[in-house]
Amino acid sequence: MKKIALAIHGGCGVMPEDSMTASDWEAARNDLAAALGAGYAVLQSGGRAVDAVEAAVVVMENSPHFNAGHGAALNENGVHELDASIMDGATLGAGAVSAALAIRNPIKAARRLMDDGRAVLLTGAAADRFAEANGLATEPQSYFTTQKRVEALEAMKAHAAAGTDGTENEKHGTVGAVALDAAGHLAAATSTGGYTNKPEGRVGDSPIIGAGTYARDGVCAVSGTGKGEFFIRHVVGHEIASRIAYLRQDLKTAAGAVVNHDLAVHEIGAGLVAIDAEGEIAAPYNTPGMFRGWVISDGKAFVATHETIYEVMV
Ligand code: ASP
Repeated sequence: MKKIALAIHGGCGVMPEDSMTASDWEAARNDLAAALGAGYAVLQSGGRAVDAVEAAVVVMENSPHFNAGHGAALNENGVHELDASIMDGATLGAGAVSAALAIRNPIKAARRLMDDGRAVLLTGAAADRFAEANGLATEPQSYFTTQKRVEALEAMKAHAAAGTDGTENEKHGTVGAVALDAAGHLAAATSTGGYTNKPEGRVGDSPIIGAGTYARDGVCAVSGTGKGEFFIRHVVGHEIASRIAYLRQDLKTAAGAVVNHDLAVHEIGAGLVAIDAEGEIAAPYNTPGMFRGWVISDGKAFVATHETIYEVMV
């Protein structure tokens, strides 16, 4: 069989053990495994990388454990504004939505827009209307809200009032996937609620092609997580691709340099998953943990949140 591979992330941060119950940690790992399973099933049956990353992200958007779709972060007004994007490395086709209020699975809307081809990025009410017009499910805001995100917003507002800094956990998170399919094509997808207490209308890196999401056949595919403003300024996805294409760096060197040098100097939590044309995977992060998982050609699949890596069945 030709090489296929998939890597996913569910955000990075401090992630102290006591920030979730043992059963919640296990449930989050199970949802990572389910996301890997959904994406890998596409690749294994000879499907396209772009379909695999969409399928994996949908599972994580539906999970309450990650900051995307159901379980997304709240902005300063207690509103969910959802960002997502997808890119097909084969064609450089891309689609994205930002500040959407009602799309159940923002990554599906990004994909529809990519296939539609009339625009790369739709924002706000227009993104919601585009999703509805294309038959995608919409939800009331309450669908996206979890108790954890309500508490995180309260905590961030208290920090703001006291002039103190919140934990990375209270602040952000994102989900994403990158894949290589049997035809040698690469793709990336990313979806997020952004960071807790973000200003109304703020757009992060996740829907910005080249920053939070990037894929180019023969080079790499990248999906990032961390304070989006810095991912935008460093054009992280494209920067990693450029290091590989122009400097001839290997994937791990290129991705590590951006996370551990370029982004680290800003003292922000940052992580990403990336895959190259050979199916090599890199998942660097500069925080104590990152929800992540990967599956390679032999079908061996792994998930992790901190240092311990768990082999899972997909
Ligand atoms: N990158 C996301 C954003 O800035 C948040 C995160 O990944 O933590 O919107």
